[in-house]
Amino acid sequence: MGRGEWFAPVPERATVLTDAQLAANFADIAPPLSNDAALLEANKCLFCHDAPCTIACPTHIDVPAFIKKIATGNLRGSARVILDANPFGHSCARACPVEVLCEGACVLNERDEQPIKIALLQRHATDYVLEKKLKLFEPGKPTGKRVAIIGAGPAGLACTRDLRCAGHAVTVFEAKPQPGGLNTYGIAEYKLKADVALAEVQDILDLGVELKSGVTVGRDIPFEQVLAEYDAVFVGIGLGATKALGIPGEDLPGVVDALSFIEHLKTHPYRDTRIGKRVVVIGAGNTAIDAVTQAKRLGAAEATIVYRRGESDMSCYHYEYELAKRDGCGFRFQAAPQRIVANGSGAVSGVEVRTPSGSETIPCDMVIVAIGQGERGEFAWPPDHPRVFTGGDCANGGAEIVNAAAEGVTAAKRIHEMLGGIVR
Ligand SMILES: Cc1cc2nc3c(=O)[nH]c(=O)nc-3n(C[C@H](O)[C@H](O)[C@H](O)COP(=O)(O)OP(=O)(O)OC[C@H]3O[C@@H](n4cnc5c(N)ncnc54)[C@H](O)[C@@H]3O)c2cc1C
Ligand code: SF4
Repeated sequence: MGRGEWFAPVPERATVLTDAQLAANFADIAPPLSNDAALLEANKCLFCHDAPCTIACPTHIDVPAFIKKIATGNLRGSARVILDANPFGHSCARACPVEVLCEGACVLNERDEQPIKIALLQRHATDYVLEKKLKLFEPGKPTGKRVAIIGAGPAGLACTRDLRCAGHAVTVFEAKPQPGGLNTYGIAEYKLKADVALAEVQDILDLGVELKSGVTVGRDIPFEQVLAEYDAVFVGIGLGATKALGIPGEDLPGVVDALSFIEHLKTHPYRDTRIGKRVVVIGAGNTAIDAVTQAKRLGAAEATIVYRRGESDMSCYHYEYELAKRDGCGFRFQAAPQRIVANGSGAVSGVEVRTPSGSETIPCDMVIVAIGQGERGEFAWPPDHPRVFTGGDCANGGAEIVNAAAEGVTAAKRIHEMLGGIVR
């Protein structure tokens, strides 16, 4: 075994927690509002004219407009306002870093009051249409044009939604068995579950989209062939695998990369994801925080971030850091990993680190590597080709769902215009 595979320190059981404890640990971190609570919250909004919350949102959802509709009991209309601007308004309501976006910009912060709970209100409205299976969008009149989307993540599918509404035929090529990108395979389980992500995606596919899943462009079909067969191509392939540490011992059993660990957790019953008793997570970005928190919630007795720089250098969001601390995760700063060491039977027993005062070995039986994603290498595409468009993580270097959705929507406008359509 090696990176990406699993080592069970307790072979007969993946975790010592019961199924009920595991379910509680991975329940939604921000539970939905009741109808009464949503009405109360909506009525606290000042419905600002130049709403800073709307400006702060990369998709510029008209926040006061959707909140007003909740206040008047029009949940369908509210969801329409949200989803019109952001085809991933449902997953964004659960996973957006709102503290640094809309809620962080809410004018109530300036009065030392709590900001409006925009994310929970957005969830209230979008949950309603998803649960009731209400169809808010329809395919446009056929234009006879065909567009290929490479990658069924938020960027590719946001672009797909608007292209279908404009009447273009869309084929989506997706390497994984399921669509949704990291929404399905990567977002922390206590924020967004795969079945919710897939329900949101299905709404887009129901507009009449051809989905070719399990097809990697550049391997199963050449990019040049796709470009030749379609009028336009959108590339939304995200980023690649977790980067390697480049230190001895990283292929030992018990070393796993963060994305494989999280993907396994999100696609299997909780107890089937094996977890060490003492887990070290190497890295200090948002993925590292998600990995350490989920390791702890899976039942690790100790889950510790090991980071070569200091606390103030961490690239994760402050509130994610606070969550990990509340979960009882440990943090070792100024500790640069030099080597992963093994016990007599060849399994991980610790991480040797260099510290300002010398070196030491931090004992552990599992290591999760979370030092960022590399670029994908299946194919090269000409970014300045007039019929090739791009957006999302592969274009912006790695941001949030909402950025990918915004860039997919913008690309759909450009593609529509290029295909002779009038952009509203
Ligand atoms: C662990 C983790 C946690 C995150 N948590 C959050 C969060 O809480 N909130 C938030 O807003 N953002 C979060 N993000 C960021 C967010 O997930 C991404 O910004 C977003 O998913 C980017 O969307 P995308 O469509 O560009 O790429 P992706 O979601 O990566 O989708 C790209 C798709 O393209 C497919 N693909 C790749 N190559 C090919 C090919 N050659 N042929 C066919 N298909 C291909 C992939 O299989 C994938 O499905 C997180 C990211 C990670 C890694
Ligand atoms: S800034 Fe706050 S109070 Fe003003 S419209 Fe936005 S959510 Fe409402």
